[in-house]
Amino acid sequence: MRRVVITGGASGLGRAMAERFIAEGDRVAICDADPSAVAGFAQAYPDHIAMTADVTDEAQMATVFDAVEAAFSGVDVVCANAGIGGPAGRIEDLSLADWTRCVEVNLSGTFLTCRWAARQMRAAGQGLIVLTSSTAGQFGYPLRSPYATAKWGIVGLTKTLAMELGPAGVRVNAICPGAVEGDRMDRVVAMEAAASGRSEDAVRALYVKGVSLRSWVTADDVADTVLWLASPQAKRISGQIVAIDGHTETLVP
Ligand code: NAD
Repeated sequence: MRRVVITGGASGLGRAMAERFIAEGDRVAICDADPSAVAGFAQAYPDHIAMTADVTDEAQMATVFDAVEAAFSGVDVVCANAGIGGPAGRIEDLSLADWTRCVEVNLSGTFLTCRWAARQMRAAGQGLIVLTSSTAGQFGYPLRSPYATAKWGIVGLTKTLAMELGPAGVRVNAICPGAVEGDRMDRVVAMEAAASGRSEDAVRALYVKGVSLRSWVTADDVADTVLWLASPQAKRISGQIVAIDGHTETLVP
């Protein structure tokens, strides 16, 4: 039985990961900024921990981490997953506030989560951190500069933490999901259509055109990969940037 913490775990990919770990018999704690989603998770999984917290708020996250330490006495897997898409538009039209919020949630929130995980895991001499980057962290992504910048930052953080924590027995990997079917990509497609002047169908078609397998990804595909990373079969996998995307050739086909 593993002790698992997932940020942004009340819906989307984080919830898919949480449900897979729970199905495996693990103990899961999630936090999420959306109180109604947290309430839904808590109702569905009363034997696990669900807390409302914003990953960029140090005090709120300290409360989450204290609660997890009290309940779990350590942690085996931490998924630093919470993220937002940020704005879509040419850089000359973006506001500093939109830029800052996107980088804060995707990158600073991940920093706070990883800092706590590192303290726990270095002391224990074991553990796995999985950071959620994106295919936007592997390619240039026109009209999404804040998001791409933050997700490339995740890659740098992953490589660095794998080196800092590897000698202590802690593995650190990033996942790069492609376009995942679901609410979030519906919102992203609508935003990108508005910013580019294309129809939503045209934007959707472009996501598939740039992918070798010509398909979108499902949340289960992503959860499967995280479960594999957390398995004994992946015990020598660290510092890796694992794309779950059907092989993205370009984000601008
Ligand atoms: P989602 O919007 O469905 O879920 C994200 C969850 O994170 C939500 O429950 C939301 O309330 C929570 N959240 C947002 N901001 C938060 C904050 N400040 N503090 C705490 N929780 C917060 O999105 P998703 O698709 O599940 O995305 C999860 C991660 O995967 C993100 O990091 C995202 O960038 C990344 N990603 C998603 C896709 C995709 O196609 N959906 C592709 C690549 C990467």
